[in-house]
Amino acid sequence: MIDLPRHWYNILADLPTPPPPPLHPGTLKPVGPDDLAPLFPMELIAQEVSTDRFIEIPEDVLDIYRLWRPTPLIRARRLERALGTPARIYYKYEGVSPSGSHKPNTAVPQAYYNAKEGIKKLTTETGAGQWGSSLAFACAQFGLECEIWMVRSSYDQKPYRRTLMRVYGATVHASPSPVTEAGKKILAENPDSPGSLGIAISEAVEVAAASPDARYALGSVLNHVLLHQTVIGEEALRQLAELGETPDLIIGCTGGGSNFGGLVFPFLREKLQGKINPVIRAVEPAACPSFTRGTYAYDFGDTAGLTPLLKMHTLGHDFVPDPIHAGGLRYHGMSPLLSHVYELGLFEAVTRNQTECFEAGVRFARAEGIIPGPEPTHAIAETIAEALRCKETGEEKVILTALSGHGHFDLGAYDRYLSGELEDFTLPPERIAESLATLPKV
Ligand SMILES: *Cc1c(COP(=O)(O)O)cnc(C)c1O
Repeated sequence: MIDLPRHWYNILADLPTPPPPPLHPGTLKPVGPDDLAPLFPMELIAQEVSTDRFIEIPEDVLDIYRLWRPTPLIRARRLERALGTPARIYYKYEGVSPSGSHKPNTAVPQAYYNAKEGIKKLTTETGAGQWGSSLAFACAQFGLECEIWMVRSSYDQKPYRRTLMRVYGATVHASPSPVTEAGKKILAENPDSPGSLGIAISEAVEVAAASPDARYALGSVLNHVLLHQTVIGEEALRQLAELGETPDLIIGCTGGGSNFGGLVFPFLREKLQGKINPVIRAVEPAACPSFTRGTYAYDFGDTAGLTPLLKMHTLGHDFVPDPIHAGGLRYHGMSPLLSHVYELGLFEAVTRNQTECFEAGVRFARAEGIIPGPEPTHAIAETIAEALRCKETGEEKVILTALSGHGHFDLGAYDRYLSGELEDFTLPPERIAESLATLPKV
């Protein structure tokens, strides 16, 4: 068994050019630490802009990581056999964490740095509830209060995720909510709004910015989040090396990009050094395709326009995706760091529809036993398609994917799939054009 990594890996140290900086929406100048101080603790702000290659993981964080890390790297032999493929499929299983996904990998250090700087409360948004339950767990570890805005469509679809957050001690609002100005404004225009991550972020940011001993925590997108998630890839590198395997293809699902970045950045480091040469592929939902149909531009991270402007692949901050069940992938933007790495041509991106993803999820569960969350079924659908391609060509490809979380709280969605009630949404180009028309002018 491998040891826990002692450092997070910062890919900024190894890129040929740095990503464009976040801009202040008023001045259009790069944001400085003072602009971010009302929202984040100083150590996270420092990590956000750091160019150090390795950042030490604090001992208190390692102690909590040890509850479930290192996570297993499992060869999907039964799935390989069921598919009749010569490919060798490995999945890094993040569902063994307390909340059932990779998200505590960053929730724990975020809560740790806030508590260390004397902060009393964290606010956040959550889509499917994975991030909210992870942050609620982390806050409980450090005695912090936790207030969460949960996207309305998920709040209604996933009542038990809400319960999990409350068990860990958090307060949960359906978003849009009547307790913030941003929420009231949306409700006045559309009382039945299904909500979106962009709206929920506006609400959580508004409340954190108004209180001196509260800060805001983001579960994806930002550099420090992807940094913390690199424990996934660092472990997978060592685990594959122990088995004497080298990946030919690495596949992950992308919402804001954190499990994908966390898995692939350590492998990209080795690739940039010429040691390995895997193809790297992101899979996004056809209903929310920021890499493949969005544009690379400065945009707000939220709907109300409270956040700094981020240069990223975006569908526009007004874009409200159709209510697919992979709530964690329903975000209009993409990590600016990952967007930059994509522009550098270091990985490719494809889309998948939700019914083919649930089909893949069921196939995976019947072979391997684990029920995947709706988000990683996107990576599994692509992995299965690739393994079937290998069956045609006889290629013994080594495929690595992240099973970013289990689907035990998503059985309602599986039930709808099995009853034939799930639909695929078509996303007409006009809808994207319409939301891109309101991009800020930079
Ligand atoms: C949140 C979530 C995702 C999507 O977020 P990323 O930041 O893109 O990783 C994927 N899988 C699971 C299980 C999630 O909870």
